[in-house]
Amino acid sequence: MTASTSDIEKAAGVLRAGGLVALPTETVYGLGANAEDPAAVARIFRVKGRPSSHPLIVHLGGAEYLDDWVEDVPATARLLAEHFWPGPLTLVLRRGPRVPLEATGGLETVAVRVPDHPVGLALLSAFGGGVTAPSANRFGSVSPTTADHVRAELGEAVDFVLDGGPCEVGVESTIVDVTGDAPSILRPGGVTREDLEAVLGCPLEVPSTSRVRVPGQHPSHYAPRARVVLVEPEKVVAEAGLAQELGHRVGVFLPAFLADAPVKAHAVVTVPSSMAAYAHGLYGFLRELDQQGCDLIIASVPVEEGLGLAIANRLRRAAGPRPS
Ligand code: AMP
Ligand code: MG
Repeated sequence: MTASTSDIEKAAGVLRAGGLVALPTETVYGLGANAEDPAAVARIFRVKGRPSSHPLIVHLGGAEYLDDWVEDVPATARLLAEHFWPGPLTLVLRRGPRVPLEATGGLETVAVRVPDHPVGLALLSAFGGGVTAPSANRFGSVSPTTADHVRAELGEAVDFVLDGGPCEVGVESTIVDVTGDAPSILRPGGVTREDLEAVLGCPLEVPSTSRVRVPGQHPSHYAPRARVVLVEPEKVVAEAGLAQELGHRVGVFLPAFLADAPVKAHAVVTVPSSMAAYAHGLYGFLRELDQQGCDLIIASVPVEEGLGLAIANRLRRAAGPRPS
């Protein structure tokens, strides 16, 4: 099932020809294009329905290529790259001339990372350049963590789907801005704040999830079709039962400590107690409850430490107000 050498060569050819390739990474599947081809990059925005002001991440085959793409790399960035690449950490740095403004939403900074996935890395190596890749889903919806998710959501709109199996981490990368006086987390993700702080030797700010940074961006993101309502963990069972009685088709994210509790609901997912397993399964659980026809999902956020911070961020955004 997972990609062969000829699949990788074919995918590299599609990128060279200006096409779009869905590629596996350890976080989620990306919708990739040649970063240096503005027309191919523009197609990513069209296929996703993503506002063109919303910048993309440039994926590189190794930390050794960093200086080809960005300027004025600070020592902090080198330290973080050395510790966490390949891995789920994205660094925001000053844009070099190879990066077209189409990829950065017109910004003079660029987000870069080296993914930790054998098939993704093999593609980057065969292609030889940088690949801009947001998650391979329509703007605002749940990110894909399997090749089947990509096919189901984007179908013919993508020229080639490179199957690398299910994504190990399951949530997007942590984004750290290293262009200012002190590094700051723009988005929590697969590398934990605690691990970053241990390497940096200083505390990091994490923005509130309610803040909307990019103009035109709606608070709702990572959202399934079903409405998501977040409640305290101990209220999940009662709220689900109530909503089901009111006629909703309720999907429940049942906290691990309530695993044996009887729940009145249309569909139930017991969330893993390990945060790594929870992150790995999160988007699949949301898709599963959509598929089962739920119109309402009752969930609670985990404790916001370690990977729990990224999971809580995604659930809060999924529960954010939807465009009307
Ligand atoms: P994704 O939507 O998963 O592709 O993630 C891309 C994220 O990276 C978005 O939240 C962007 O706002 C962020 N991003 C990309 N480039 C930049 C940049 N130059 N400055 C700040 N944030 C960026
Ligand atoms: Mg995305």
